Amino acid sequence: MGEFEGKVVLVTGGTRGIGRACAARFARAGANVAICGRGQETTQAAATALSEETGGKVEGYRADIADAAEVDAMFKAVSERLGPVSILVNNAGITRDGLLMRMKNDVWNDVLETNLNGTFYCCRAACRGMIKARSGRIINVSSIIGIRGQAGQTNYSAAKAGIIGFTKSLAQELAPRNVTANVVAPGYIETDMTAGFSEAAREKLLATIPAGREGSPKEIAAAVAFLAGDDASYITGHVLCVDGGLGM
Ligand code: NDP
Repeated sequence: MGEFEGKVVLVTGGTRGIGRACAARFARAGANVAICGRGQETTQAAATALSEETGGKVEGYRADIADAAEVDAMFKAVSERLGPVSILVNNAGITRDGLLMRMKNDVWNDVLETNLNGTFYCCRAACRGMIKARSGRIINVSSIIGIRGQAGQTNYSAAKAGIIGFTKSLAQELAPRNVTANVVAPGYIETDMTAGFSEAAREKLLATIPAGREGSPKEIAAAVAFLAGDDASYITGHVLCVDGGLGM
């Protein structure tokens, strides 16, 4: 029997990258997994591919997490089809980089609305059922940039730092109900998000990483699964950096 047999896991942004690796990890361990993404077809296609690849149960739900009503509708649909969410992984995120001096309001707002507000909407929608069940796990994906900052990413680092403060407060609210809330802060991980880096920028970045390489989505999924599993029952409000030492 898999570690997550019978658990209902929702991974936001599970269509590719880190979220997809998380969904695969939970599906292989027996969970009923829901993923979401912004496109109907891409989300369905990813869910079908994940089911085939893992032999597990993965369903796709189209939802933009920056829209509170869409988030609530998604949680209702997941609850009706799979049951109340017992493990929530807030992974969906975007970047829209640029120097602050020239940053337009919509560029700032888009990143905050998806990365921070989206995490808030999903946690709010999930925690009612978790409190009722007296059990639940929330894992919010931040970034090393939310801790260290990065020129050109004021919007992104504000959102990712916001996720850390938000999660610590939420962890305190939920701890008495046997619900944990933790953060995973990835370093430089090989996904579509980082695929646009030039070779020169990549080389420069790799030189700053003690491990001397980028991480893989699977290495983030392993940390997420640890925080969602029984072995992490006494860990809450924690920020787990998975970054090859970059944040030291
Ligand atoms: P990708 O760009 O590869 O994937 C992003 C995922 O988020 C996609 O599945 C996308 O789905 C989904 N998504 C984006 N916006 C929304 C939205 N509004 N509503 C629903 N789904 C959405 O990113 P990564 O896998 O690299 O990143 C995943 C998380 O990890 C992000 O939060 C990111 O900030 C964080 N992170 C990544 C790092 C890295 O080096 N890659 C480093 C540190 C943190 P679709 O396009 O189908 O809608």
